[in-house]
Amino acid sequence: SPPGPDPSPAPSPTRALDPAVLRRDFPILQRPVHGRRLVYLDSAATSQKPAAVIEALAAFYQRSNANVHRGIHTLAEEATAAYEGARARVAAFLGARDDEIVFTRGTTEALNLVAWGWAGHRLRPGDTILVTLMEHHSNLVPWQQVAARGGFHLRAVPLTADGRLDRDAFSRLLADHRPRVVALAHMSNVLGTINPVAELARQAREAGAVVVVDGAQSVPHLPVDVRRLGVDFLAFSAHKMLGPTGLGVLYGRRERLEEMEPLLTGGGMIRHVELQRSTWADPPHRFEAGTPPIAEAAAFACALDYLARLGMDAVAAHERDLVRYAWERLRQVKGLTLYGPEPEHRGGVISFTVAGVHPHDLAQVLDGEGVAIRAGHHCTQPLHRHLGVVATARASFYVYNDRDDVDRLVEGIERARRLLA
Ligand code: PLP
Repeated sequence: SPPGPDPSPAPSPTRALDPAVLRRDFPILQRPVHGRRLVYLDSAATSQKPAAVIEALAAFYQRSNANVHRGIHTLAEEATAAYEGARARVAAFLGARDDEIVFTRGTTEALNLVAWGWAGHRLRPGDTILVTLMEHHSNLVPWQQVAARGGFHLRAVPLTADGRLDRDAFSRLLADHRPRVVALAHMSNVLGTINPVAELARQAREAGAVVVVDGAQSVPHLPVDVRRLGVDFLAFSAHKMLGPTGLGVLYGRRERLEEMEPLLTGGGMIRHVELQRSTWADPPHRFEAGTPPIAEAAAFACALDYLARLGMDAVAAHERDLVRYAWERLRQVKGLTLYGPEPEHRGGVISFTVAGVHPHDLAQVLDGEGVAIRAGHHCTQPLHRHLGVVATARASFYVYNDRDDVDRLVEGIERARRLLA
């Protein structure tokens, strides 16, 4: 049978995860780094992939490879079934309709599509777009660009001292500027803050805004249901949730997708073409010009099955536990500053600095111990400017991390302090 989504994935029981057992599913976690067991704490940048996902990618090329939609032979039908089956799998994962799921290259492309394809055509000069100070450049720069082109105003919601959105300022900005678009991260990739998107979206929509959510850090880690969130658009990337690179998703509420113009034109997205003009296919195909990432979509369906078997409630509970543990351990390290809110308001991302140790040097010492973290501005320069630092170190967790990994992190930081501080 063609590689494709499991039509009846097992129900998701809330059972505690056993990371030591799950690690066996991830070939890369079997390799040592500098002679130590690899402790991978960089899943916010990209997650590792279970063998089942890697095999699904290979299986597609070995058994069913063909282009989608246009073929009338067996392989073309299998490829189309795998690709459209993956769309249905994503829709079920989010509580959306199949035709509300657009495949893109990633979160960045999905957000650009909304900025140019929706806002670029629907807004008028003088209209306001509201973002927040904690946005990843992917949910900031496209809005800057479209605002500059269209004569729109761009404003940002400020943060509280502990790195949450300032709700009073948000309400005031809605009342004073009546933004047409509110674009915000569900979870910050630096502060770890989980924004109360359902409440913010209700407020924003009541004020007349279309709500665009950057779900790059939330969809992989939390149960997300688009109807319950009440948002218009939600963007995320497969590679951050056990899936392959080169594939992302834009969920769009049906009415919004109908209103949106394509960014890319060409084959596969048209209804009717004449020499001088063309008409567009219905969403979602209107937004998928050219040959799509077919093998990647088939493998992504397999990643979603894997997560569904674990249960997203269990994934979220596991990371909450790990963050509480890491928070307690890290704050006992001398000279260490933690950024962002207390564990009850955050997900599995912890950014910090250590007095007298540059984050890059810290990351290098940790690498020597087989511990992978990230150092830099994490594509959030305005946020780092607000925090008063040029760079932070960031540890991020996923289903294969456990308390031993946190202990290895803390040991490595202590070693870096002894060597460098
Ligand atoms: N938004 C957030 C919050 C992210 O963490 C990232 C990934 O780094 C992105 C957007 C961009 O994702 P991608 O590079 O997959 O397009």
